Amino acid sequence: MATYSDEGVVLRTHKLGEADRIITLLTRGHGKVRAVAKGVRRTSSKFGARLEPFSHVDLQLVEGRSLDIVSQAVTRRLLGQPLLGDYPAYTAAEAMVETADRLVDQEKEPALPQYLLLLGALRTLGEGTPDGPRPPTLILDSYLLRALATAGYAPVLDGCAACGRPGPHEFFNPAAGGLVCATCHPPGSAVVGPVTLAYLVALLTGDWPATRAVAPAVQREGSGLVAAFANWHLERGLRSLPHVERG
Ligand SMILES: [Zn+2]
Repeated sequence: MATYSDEGVVLRTHKLGEADRIITLLTRGHGKVRAVAKGVRRTSSKFGARLEPFSHVDLQLVEGRSLDIVSQAVTRRLLGQPLLGDYPAYTAAEAMVETADRLVDQEKEPALPQYLLLLGALRTLGEGTPDGPRPPTLILDSYLLRALATAGYAPVLDGCAACGRPGPHEFFNPAAGGLVCATCHPPGSAVVGPVTLAYLVALLTGDWPATRAVAPAVQREGSGLVAAFANWHLERGLRSLPHVERG
């Protein structure tokens, strides 16, 4: 049977039979892979805790008829370790792997940009940025905007999403696609000030230095807008796409 090697991040696991688990991974070369890890729930397992969510591992897999089988797993980086005991960081990491799982819907279709974004965001959660640590919600919000943008759902932030008139504008509406002008804004649009708008642009472009001195109130406001935008697309915008698993 054909074997292949890759590196990947564990997105989720679930039990299979008495002692096995199905591991869902996002890999560098093969996109999303679902594979069986045999005996992984026994205390004597050769995989130990290497195949837990957020683990970054080197893998050897054997192609199977329906699911591939993990034949080797070696830890590259203990991405999950710094998150244990840090509840905000842990829940941010959970939201990240769930989002990656949803956005990469096809198995074995290369998704290198999504893989690199996820790996980078999980590393930043545990290790901070070159100029210091960042709050978990800020790292999550930046990841959500960039992962959605990579999947083709970038929020419009430089002009009106409805009529295209150059910004800045003062309204934000997830269903409309982002920023909207005073003429186009649908009822129920959020009001967004220039400081928060600049913050959203920094999150979308991954401009960490620009997020350094942002006030907590702006972070909270930005976070609310990002959550509304991400939820709208993940819950409704992707629903029409085929192969999306509904949990
Ligand atoms: Zn407009």
